[in-house]
Amino acid sequence: MTPERRLHTDTDDGMLLMISGPSGVGKTTITRGVERAIPDSVFSVSATTRDKTEADVEGVDYRFVSDEQFRAMIDSDALLEWAEVFGKRYGTPAAWVDEQLSRGRLVILEIDVEGARQVKAKMPEAFGLFVLPPSEDVLLGRLRSRRRESEELIQRRFREAKREIREARECGAYDAFVVNDDLDRAISEAVETVRGARRARRV
Ligand code: 5GP
Repeated sequence: MTPERRLHTDTDDGMLLMISGPSGVGKTTITRGVERAIPDSVFSVSATTRDKTEADVEGVDYRFVSDEQFRAMIDSDALLEWAEVFGKRYGTPAAWVDEQLSRGRLVILEIDVEGARQVKAKMPEAFGLFVLPPSEDVLLGRLRSRRRESEELIQRRFREAKREIREARECGAYDAFVVNDDLDRAISEAVETVRGARRARRV
C-alpha cells in the first residue's frame, strides 16, 4: 500500500480467518462472537444468488445479486473464491479482502469447505477453523428444531453435514476444530485459538 493511503489505524497484523461448519452447528453465532471479541476484526459480506429471507439484512449478512451479476463477478476475477451450496452461488469479494488485510485487520470469512479449500490453495497462510457438533445425534436434533422443514429435507441436510465434516477433516484447509457443546465455551475457545495463531505469527 502506498504510504499516503495508509490510515493511522493500519498495522502489519493482517490475518485471514475462515470459519466453516455444517448447517445447524451454530457457526454464525460463533463467527459473530469472534468478531465481537476481537476489536480489529471485520466480517466479509459475501455475494449470493440465494433469495433473501426475512432474517437477512442486505449488505450486512449478504449482498444479494442476480445470476448475471454473479457471473460477471466470476468473469472479471472479482471473487477470491466461490462455491455452489444447495444450488445457489456464494462468493467472497477479493478486492475488499485484500484492502482489509493490507490494513492489518483480522478478516473473517464464513464460507463452506469448498470455498475454504480454494482460499487455502491461494493463500496458505489463511487460518481455517471448523465448528463441529458434539455428536451426530445432537446435530440431527438441532436441524430438526431449527426450521419448519420436511423430514426429507432435514435428512438431506444431515447427510450433507456428515459429508462436509469428513471432507473438512481430510482436505487440509483447517488448522483448528472447535466442538460447539456449549456456545459460550465454544466462542471462548475459538477466540483464544485465533488470538494464539495471530500471536504466533508476530514472532
Ligand atoms: P446460508 O444460505 O445458510 O446463509 O449459507 C449456506 C452456506 O454457504 C453456509 O455453509 C455458508 O457458510 C456458505 N457461504 C456463505 N458465504 C459464502 C461464500 O462467500 N463462499 C462460500 N464458499 N460459501 C459461503
